[in-house]
Amino acid sequence: MSANANKVTIVGTGPAGLTAAIYAARAGLEPVVYAGLQHGGQLTTTTEIENFPGFAHGVMGPALMTEMSAQAERVGAKIVYEEVTTTDLSVRPFKLQIGDKTVLTETLIIATGATAKTLGLPREAQLMGKGISTCATCDGFFYKGKKVAVVGGGDTAMEEANYLAKLCSEVILIHRRPQFKASKIMLERAQKNPKIKFLVPYGVECALEGPTGVNGIRVKNLDTGKEEDIALDGLFMAIGHSPNSKPFAKFMDLDDHGYVKIHDFTRTKVPGVFAAGDIADPHFRQAITAAGMGCQAAIQAQRYLEELEG
Ligand code: FAD
Ligand code: NAP
Repeated sequence: MSANANKVTIVGTGPAGLTAAIYAARAGLEPVVYAGLQHGGQLTTTTEIENFPGFAHGVMGPALMTEMSAQAERVGAKIVYEEVTTTDLSVRPFKLQIGDKTVLTETLIIATGATAKTLGLPREAQLMGKGISTCATCDGFFYKGKKVAVVGGGDTAMEEANYLAKLCSEVILIHRRPQFKASKIMLERAQKNPKIKFLVPYGVECALEGPTGVNGIRVKNLDTGKEEDIALDGLFMAIGHSPNSKPFAKFMDLDDHGYVKIHDFTRTKVPGVFAAGDIADPHFRQAITAAGMGCQAAIQAQRYLEELEG
């Protein structure tokens, strides 16, 4: 092993990266963890988390991530507040480019997450968590008994609509064209649900605001151009996610949506490179599953290093 290379470098400080950091640090691997532009990851953009085990009364997303980060540092992980721009995973040790610095590492854990795509409505960022959401599993509970809309025509939109229909009084599914990307079974399930009403082909023009947040949306019939306002409490955008795989993409097998393909838990096609959390998980995309994969990646990196050392 090279004397001037990190044993483990982790890219990302969401639940996956920080859990990997905790396990790698406690295994004596002195992990270096790059935080990128969003230290703490996606949960820093939300309010209350009610489904992360260990918090009987829920926990605020930013508080949970502050604790996770402090825990990683307390056990010896080094967090660096910089972004990895490019990599060379064809050489050993691997090379990571961070600004004008090159960092060498024996193993790499990619935990860069995925970003939900949004519609780009006026004041969208300000209304996130105040009536606009990109995650029904996360926020649906706050709309119990209320009327909501879901935008999108893929499996995620159908899944979110069906999930919300269990909690909400009414769900309007808005899609921009008559054909759906969703699988037949998922589409039919939503179509058969008496609580879900389809609005097709429609687009959302803007969210309407009351004193505490969203209280309606303005939609447009894309055939006629006619606009109308709908009173409701929540707008869920389910139009896909973009995995943050760009700096590694050249060396990885990616699926059609850009997620890093893994096998045997968190191994990628490059031995010594592991991927954990949303970056490698188009299915669950939850904090607890990301944390679990982070744990697996750190243990697999440790075993890989042990094999290298013989
Ligand atoms: P992320 O949390 O996305 O973290 C990615 C990390 O990688 C960030 O630190 C980022 O800065 C870093 N990064 C990216 N690119 C680079 C780079 N090039 N160089 C260095 N660093 C980089 N899940 C739940 O279980 N319960 C909830 O209630 C819940 N609520 C949510 C609410 C919202 C609004 C959102 C958006 C998501 C919610 N989720 C919830 C989903 C949950 O946040 C994700 O599943 C989880 O954060 C994924 O963790 P991760 O570590 O894989 O990635
Ligand atoms: P997706 O299949 O790419 O569908 C995205 C949908 O959002 C499409 O209908 C698209 O419309 C619409 N859309 C995109 N940008 C839009 C915009 N700017 N304005 C309005 N609408 C927009 O994404 P996904 O539904 O997240 O699914 C991703 C992958 O995960 C798929 O492979 C899916 O099968 C899988 N998945 C599976 C399950 C399951 O099996 N249980 C659940 C969830 C996801 P157009 O169709 O017009 O492009």
